[in-house]
Amino acid sequence: MRDTKFPNGATESIANLTFLIVEDHEFQRRALARMLRNLGAKSIDEALDGYAALKVIQSSRLPIDIVISDLDMPGMDGMEFIRCLHESGNEVSLILASALERKLLSSVETMSEAYSIKLLGVLEKPILPGKLEMLIKSHMPTPAKVAPTPADRATFTLDEILAGLTNNQFEAYFQPKVELASGRLKGAEALARWRHPELGIVMPHAFITTLEENGFIDQLTWMILGKGASFCRTWRETGVDVTVAVNLSVKSLADVKIAEHVTRIVANHNLEPRHIVLEVTESAATTELGKALENLARLRMKGFGLSIDDYGTGYSSMKQLARIAFTEIKIDQAFVTNAGRHESARVILESSLNMVKKLSVMSVGEGVETQDDWNLLAKLGCDLAQGYFVARPMDATSYLAWVADWNLGSKRAALETVCV
Ligand code: C2E
Ligand code: MG
Ligand code: MG
Repeated sequence: MRDTKFPNGATESIANLTFLIVEDHEFQRRALARMLRNLGAKSIDEALDGYAALKVIQSSRLPIDIVISDLDMPGMDGMEFIRCLHESGNEVSLILASALERKLLSSVETMSEAYSIKLLGVLEKPILPGKLEMLIKSHMPTPAKVAPTPADRATFTLDEILAGLTNNQFEAYFQPKVELASGRLKGAEALARWRHPELGIVMPHAFITTLEENGFIDQLTWMILGKGASFCRTWRETGVDVTVAVNLSVKSLADVKIAEHVTRIVANHNLEPRHIVLEVTESAATTELGKALENLARLRMKGFGLSIDDYGTGYSSMKQLARIAFTEIKIDQAFVTNAGRHESARVILESSLNMVKKLSVMSVGEGVETQDDWNLLAKLGCDLAQGYFVARPMDATSYLAWVADWNLGSKRAALETVCV
């Protein structure tokens, strides 16, 4: 029996996984079943097309973990099968095996992503056992469904959010940004959290949009900027050259006084603008493009770092904003997390990083969740990494304890060995 080392550290045996082969050619179906058995698989079902496969999935005694499917089949073909899988809400992992041309496979890959199917990868026929095993290894057992906390479920009115702000219930969490080539800490991003007296920690999605839409986002920005600057000052007093990044809503850029305000807050904490990076996300189309450009030019002139957040997902005016001297581009996690297994994501990641290099600005990969994500970014020459693989966002006290650990610890050493 072979053991599979899963990315989350758990070891699960291929023998414990259930497989379903969807293939109309009997010879190929048998050959694939044999290959799976040689890799240690014990539970293998077979189906001739999509209809039969859906029936097996619905009636199987044990839930199917991995479906290996051909694309070109009579009856229900692979494309329709993928759509039906999505519609059925089934959480199987999928491996596509096909002799069709690479470009076509790549567009089916993109289609699967659009349907949120857990696609482990695409195998060109004839299938090689080593490649098949590699894709099986990337299967993550579906985590037991975690019941949402009351804070996840809650929706808040503007008045409730504003009361939380007035009562000082909001704080900044910090998540490290690490240099891929050296494992060295270069800074942290400040992320807003609402410590709700009854519900516990409330995440930004529950309050950012409401604040933005009602014209109150600046209140949060000033608060997080103040806490971020104070934290940066404490951290810098330990003798390290680090920056703290704060998110700046594109809505705030409509006010031409913003640069003055930002500069004053930072100066009040005895920091220089170069110690703060402002991350601008274009989550809504900018109507005040001229004012946004004026503000960004002024902020840059004063010496603030400027970062384009969630690069690759924004509206088109971000391209115009990009003409301003940005100092950093953060590639959205959609193109980083698991990019090694998704051709379309990897292509976008690679071309974005090439572009960033040509612009001579810093590149940051967001959503680095696994060693594979880290290795790919390092290989493609990305400058900084941010993500759960390094650390989750933490409160200020936990962060500083974590920094001490990181600087001494074995995790950093392990990453450095990977980098060289
Ligand atoms: P963002 O600025 O792009 O921040 C990164 C988000 O990705 C954070 O979510 C972070 O917790 C999450 N993240 C980091 N590493 C990983 C990873 O490896 N995997 C996954 N799946 N996620 C990861 P968070 O804290 O929920 O914040 C969401 C967004 O809310 C932020 O995205 C930012 O756009 C906005 N936001 C947060 N704080 C503020 C703030 O003070 N002001 C404004 N205007 N927006 C904020
Ligand atoms: Mg950000
Ligand atoms: Mg982002």
